[in-house]
Amino acid sequence: MVLTAAFLRIRFLPFGAALLLLSAHAVADTIVLKNGRRIAALSAVEEGDKVKYMTSAGELSLPKSIVDHIEKGRFADTPGPPGDATANLTITPPEIRPVGGGGIEEIQRAAVHDGSIDRQYIAKLESEARSGNSQANFNAALGHHAASTFELSRGDLEHALSDERTAVTYAPDEPALLMNVAYIYLRRNEFKQALDYLERAKRVVPENPDVAKLAGWAYYGMNKLDQAVAEWKHALALRPDKELQGALEAALRDKKEEESYKENESSHFKLKYNGTAEPALARDVLRTLEMHFSAIESELNYTPPESIGVVLYTDEAFRDITRAPSWAGALYDGRIRVPVQGLAAVDGELSRSLKHELTHSFIAQKTRSACMGLAASCAIHAPTWIQEGLAQWMEGQRSGEDAAVLLQIYSAGHAIPLGRLEGSWLNMSGDTARYAYAWALANIEYIVQADGMGDMERILDRIGAGMATEAALREVLHSDYNDLMQSTAEYLRKTYGR
Ligand SMILES: [Zn+2]
Repeated sequence: MVLTAAFLRIRFLPFGAALLLLSAHAVADTIVLKNGRRIAALSAVEEGDKVKYMTSAGELSLPKSIVDHIEKGRFADTPGPPGDATANLTITPPEIRPVGGGGIEEIQRAAVHDGSIDRQYIAKLESEARSGNSQANFNAALGHHAASTFELSRGDLEHALSDERTAVTYAPDEPALLMNVAYIYLRRNEFKQALDYLERAKRVVPENPDVAKLAGWAYYGMNKLDQAVAEWKHALALRPDKELQGALEAALRDKKEEESYKENESSHFKLKYNGTAEPALARDVLRTLEMHFSAIESELNYTPPESIGVVLYTDEAFRDITRAPSWAGALYDGRIRVPVQGLAAVDGELSRSLKHELTHSFIAQKTRSACMGLAASCAIHAPTWIQEGLAQWMEGQRSGEDAAVLLQIYSAGHAIPLGRLEGSWLNMSGDTARYAYAWALANIEYIVQADGMGDMERILDRIGAGMATEAALREVLHSDYNDLMQSTAEYLRKTYGR
């Protein structure tokens, strides 16, 4: 490794949650669409005129006509997350069942074909529904449901939600549709709305394990561990489910650990802390978090919809619960988890660490990432270099003395292409990871100084709507990855060069 000597001069950068967050990117197959978009999947198979694939969100399918090819097992050698016992929740949207009459497949095929939604056909179904005929109403619901499924498969949660909610207006008692609306709300971190729809589903099918599983997820997101545990136990009594069993065990570990914890809350946070920590420290942490919340909220022009959970641990409990490696200082996995042993007040380091993890939380929520329970189930859509670059930028890091080394590596043609910094950094050596953090920060720093944080906000919005990162860069910055790296190098030269 020629570059090792150069890396050593890069100061040690904080290794917070990042490496844990990334575990969700351990991917087996990649589906490449004709428009160039790449979809990461745990597995993908061709079946008839569809490509079916598994994601952490369950099984989804795409029309084969829009798929260019499938790359098998590209990242199969990515090491797994630290602690395989961590929960890995797979919420599978339930299968829809027909209510009399056939033709479900035909309606779905007619509503979505050739890689797009046939709105004209759906409008025809809607006009037929005006007759009040129950089959016609169900067909209209099915048309919108097909559209929603298609949008969901492309990561477009906004339109998927809108279509599924319209489907429910045509078939208000169809549990599968109610559950799908709830599922999309969960993906958007809008837990109360999800519960409203699950309550409605429960009235129709009180003993459905999927309803209980989703309700547990909603309660977990709202930091209501007791109710989450009760729902998941109910779901497991109705149907064995290995993954849910893992999630339940993780929730029970959390619950047991946090039973003796004290609680406090502020406008945007629900805090739990180990009894050995001082209440004054807890108040100080909340004060600090609220201050960072306002700052990040106005930088990213985004307000997370629900309270953010925060847990303060002793060092030992942090290792036990998170099973994080010894270098991990704090982590975000749907809640911000921080070890604070021996601190009487928030010092500079803890404050920066809180802001770093809070940035991960904002990015996860803004990009509509499902991030529930422990690390393994945290599927963050934003690529790692944006996550870590932005989190470091928010905590106040700047390239400074790293610039010279980064420039040297870039000039020698050894810079790691940003495309290779999208996925997991888990398999990197410490030196390479240090370089990756510094290079990610430099690129974000360039983007922000060139045209303000508005560009980052627009890039994240596009990623949240399912666009590939480089395509989002092309739309917002009119640059591809190579252009961006070159501009970043020029920026470093001008700003930090002698
Ligand atoms: Zn991080």
